[in-house]
Amino acid sequence: MSSPYRELKERAFCANQEIPKRGLAIYTFGNVSAFDPERGVMAIKPSGVAYDELTVDDLVVLDIEGKIVEGKLRPSSDTATHLVLYRNWTGITGVVHTHSTYATAWAQARLPIPIYGTTHADHLAEDVPCTAVMSDEAVERDYEVETGHQILECFKDRQPLHTPMVLVAGHAPFTWGKTPEKAVYHAAVLEELAKMAFITKSLNGDAARLSNSLIHKHFERKHGKNAYYGQK
Ligand SMILES: [Zn+2]
Repeated sequence: MSSPYRELKERAFCANQEIPKRGLAIYTFGNVSAFDPERGVMAIKPSGVAYDELTVDDLVVLDIEGKIVEGKLRPSSDTATHLVLYRNWTGITGVVHTHSTYATAWAQARLPIPIYGTTHADHLAEDVPCTAVMSDEAVERDYEVETGHQILECFKDRQPLHTPMVLVAGHAPFTWGKTPEKAVYHAAVLEELAKMAFITKSLNGDAARLSNSLIHKHFERKHGKNAYYGQK
C-alpha cells in the first residue's frame, strides 16, 4: 500500500543506515529522525530494531505532538527528545542520537570538547557544549522530554544551526541539521572531533585552545556570508 509519508520514511531510513556504516553505533544503539515541517510530521526509527533488520516500512511517523500517524512498531524511546527540538527550533529537519564512543566518553566525563584545532573550527566556532546534569526530579518527571529541555537550556544563548551538536551530560550526544543527511554528517564529525580532542589532551594536558583569529577564519571561510570553501 502506498503511503503519503513514503518519501520522508525513505529519507529517515537511509539516514539511519548511515549510523552503523559510519561506525557510530552497534546493535540497536542510536536513532535518526527526519522532519517534514510543512506537514508537521516526523519519521523515526522504531525502538529496539537492529539496523540490519530495519526496513522502510518499519519507520514510525508521528505528528509534532507525538501521536503516531503511521507505523505498526513502537517509535524510538528517544522520540520525545527529537520532538522537543523540532517544536522549538526552526530550520532543523533532522536529529540524530548516538552513543558513539569518544563523544559519549566526553559526555560521561561531563566535559565540553575544547576547540583545539582547525578541523573543529571548520564545523563550529566554539567548544562542543555539554549540558548540565539532570536532576533526580527531572529524571522522575518525563525523562525524554526533560532531556530535550536540558538541551534547550544549554542552547538558550546559542544558535542551533551554528552549533549543530551537544553532549548530554552522563548520557551521549545529539546532533541535528537543516536536513537529516546533514544531521548524520554532524554526528560523524562530532565523533571525529571528540577522538582528536581526546588524543590531543592525552599528548598534552595543557594543550591550548585554538586562537580566536584562527577559529574565526576557519568557521567563516566555510559558513560565513563570504564563504569560499568548496566549489560554487
Ligand atoms: Zn541514548
